[in-house]
Amino acid sequence: MDEGKWISMKQKKFATKIIHIGNEPNLKEGGSGDVVTPIHLSSTFARKKVDLKTAGYEYSRSGNPTRYALEKNLASLENAQFAFAYASGLAAITNVLLLLKSGDHVVSIDDVYGGTRRLFTRVFEQFGISFTFADFSNAKEIGKYITPKTKMIWLESPTNPLLKIIDIASIAQFAKTKHITSVVDNTFATPFFQNPLDLGADIVVHSMTKYIGGHSDGVGGAIMLSNKEIAERVKFLQNAVGAILSPFDSYSFLRGIKTLALRMKQHEENAKKIVSFLQSQKKVKKIYYPGLKTHPGFAIAQKQMKGFGAMISFEINGSLQDAVIFLESLEIISIAESLGAVESLIEHPASMTHASVPKEEREKIGLSDTLIRLSVGIEDVEDLIDDLTSAFSHI
Ligand SMILES: *Cc1c(COP(=O)(O)O)cnc(C)c1O
Repeated sequence: MDEGKWISMKQKKFATKIIHIGNEPNLKEGGSGDVVTPIHLSSTFARKKVDLKTAGYEYSRSGNPTRYALEKNLASLENAQFAFAYASGLAAITNVLLLLKSGDHVVSIDDVYGGTRRLFTRVFEQFGISFTFADFSNAKEIGKYITPKTKMIWLESPTNPLLKIIDIASIAQFAKTKHITSVVDNTFATPFFQNPLDLGADIVVHSMTKYIGGHSDGVGGAIMLSNKEIAERVKFLQNAVGAILSPFDSYSFLRGIKTLALRMKQHEENAKKIVSFLQSQKKVKKIYYPGLKTHPGFAIAQKQMKGFGAMISFEINGSLQDAVIFLESLEIISIAESLGAVESLIEHPASMTHASVPKEEREKIGLSDTLIRLSVGIEDVEDLIDDLTSAFSHI
């Protein structure tokens, strides 16, 4: 690999970097010159002498050329110095949590991804780490939840599924003054629309299963960061815990990323048209989309994001049963968990993604039984609107 070229590529713009970084052709004597990084399946790497290090790889859990190519690309997505790839978003999140020790306290945004909340409360609480779930969409209120034991602040923005916007720069700055690590799950916004490290956050995590992969054909996670000390610990944990991304999946994500910029532009364009359509619908009670001027986080979203993304939540005017009828009447848009793919996906948080959140907790955070979450795909938007129109006519 030509490090000189890699360094110069880092200065290029997003759509260029995502295609080239990690895919540098090997133009050295004897190199094949392939423009796509091969899938290196080898689990181990031979060395000439016992005490002579290999070309950098020893065993594929510790490091693999295809995974490394992806990790280089992932780092560039978030303007990070380091990136690490995992077998799932939750495996990446687990690795971040493992930076803590028994007795530590974490403040998390209340409207956090359901699986993350489950990991916090049903796994890590057993190991003596405590969590406070709070709404700090007004960043000034974060101080109320901090104790001398608080070591980490966990946030998503936009959140899932209520699309709250959190002021990342303010929270990160506050965390710095208290020597607390700030972590942003940037899955919903994507690195195309938002770069938390540039806003001062310490660590970014992604479920690559969503927009980064983009095609609903792979499960993976990533951690990106620039702090060398934390990165060394994360690298140690990646190897020690072992939840690494496979070479084949590393190849798939590297492939998916190449169209991230293109996809995100189309996702957002479609989402904006669907939001306008929903605004004209009598059967829609409330729309959650950070690009709406009436959204309480609009000003902050405008400041910290380059676009508003393509996740929309809305409440149906009616009963839980109406919401179900609506969902089951759709033809193009699939009822499915997950999001961020080329195909549009719709779901009912109360019975699907957030079923693991207790009902009283759901009510407390404002997650109603008629709330629907739509991940707008990149199909022809007129077809999507026709599909929604037809489903509304059934309720
Ligand atoms: C899906 C998701 C996760 C979990 O990622 P997996 O790849 O499913 O393990 C974490 N955070 C957010 C915001 C997600 O949407």
